[in-house]
Amino acid sequence: MNIITIIGARPQFIKAAAVSKAISDAAAAGMPIQERVLHTGQHYDYNMSDIFFRELGLADPAWHLGCKGTVEEMKCQILKTLEDETPDYILVYGDTNSTLAGALVAEQMQVPLIHIEAGLRSGDMTMPEERNRILTDRLSHWLFCPTEAAVRNLLREGITSGVRLVGDVMYDAALRFTPVAEQKSTILQDLGLSPKSFVLCTIHRAATADSPQRLLSIFNALRQSGRTIILPLHPRTKRTIEQHPELQLDKADDIRTIDPVSYFDMLMLEHSAQLILTDSGGIQKEAYFSHTPCITLRDETEWVETVEAGWNKLAGTDTDRILQALKEPFSMQPINEYGDGNSAQIIVDTILNEN
Ligand code: UDP
Repeated sequence: MNIITIIGARPQFIKAAAVSKAISDAAAAGMPIQERVLHTGQHYDYNMSDIFFRELGLADPAWHLGCKGTVEEMKCQILKTLEDETPDYILVYGDTNSTLAGALVAEQMQVPLIHIEAGLRSGDMTMPEERNRILTDRLSHWLFCPTEAAVRNLLREGITSGVRLVGDVMYDAALRFTPVAEQKSTILQDLGLSPKSFVLCTIHRAATADSPQRLLSIFNALRQSGRTIILPLHPRTKRTIEQHPELQLDKADDIRTIDPVSYFDMLMLEHSAQLILTDSGGIQKEAYFSHTPCITLRDETEWVETVEAGWNKLAGTDTDRILQALKEPFSMQPINEYGDGNSAQIIVDTILNEN
């Protein structure tokens, strides 16, 4: 079985670290499976891409397109690159432009598509991620869902064929790499941080990162929170801050911006933070994995179980709502989702045995 995996963005490198390992383990055990990776180039900075390949031991991509363009441009470049290939499957993760471009390529090449992290819905069609997920799910042969809510979402849309509840490959990655991060990461010492002395904040979604008003509203909450904030700056957010003088952070603000960090450093920051504020999808879950409460800077989430269990509060970007969420306690019940850390293995077994 010949699989071509199409990835291009930071969270996909982390998910690939779990699944590519399960594929190469199966191949090493004599199973008829092999994978080659195509990197679209959507994320290209060293600390948004290469560092993950190095740190997570990912094999070099067979193709690296350096394409930072639209879904349509990516699709055309991928089709041209793969014109002599005849894979049995194309595999994509999540909800980025690279995901949708890969799905459209599979459709055009008439190759069955595997979607890992299928079925998630935020209900907000203005988010490009939501449109990417819905379209990708429509085109998929295998839909591997991380949660029961994801399976229910697909059922509601009339999609049942090829749907499997397998747990979350990001949980696999977090379980595998947290002990390594504890050994290797020096981020807490480098930043002079003691455990539980700071709040970790990330902002990168277009709706927030491209909006000076929303960023200002969040920054005002951070300023008034009285907490020490560590803010690894996504290039998109950095660009908006640089273009808007009102967003410049003052030395008096206890908000420390740093470059995006590696996955190991991120795991350590998540484990050591007293709280996480984020508009990220993956980080809401990683907050739970590291038993750190989370405030999501959005009005909806695709990880509804984190809110239902009281680990995560939706606060949007309004200053007062964020400050209110910071004041109120969290209830924090266990979440019986995400699997046992072997989701990638289940996925590989499924595609091999139910081919
Ligand atoms: N991440 C990282 N370094 C950072 C910020 C995030 O390694 O500076 C990791 C994080 O631990 C998680 C993933 O990137 O595994 C989440 O990616 P992101 O927030 O960019 O995307 P989303 O999950 O919203 O799709």
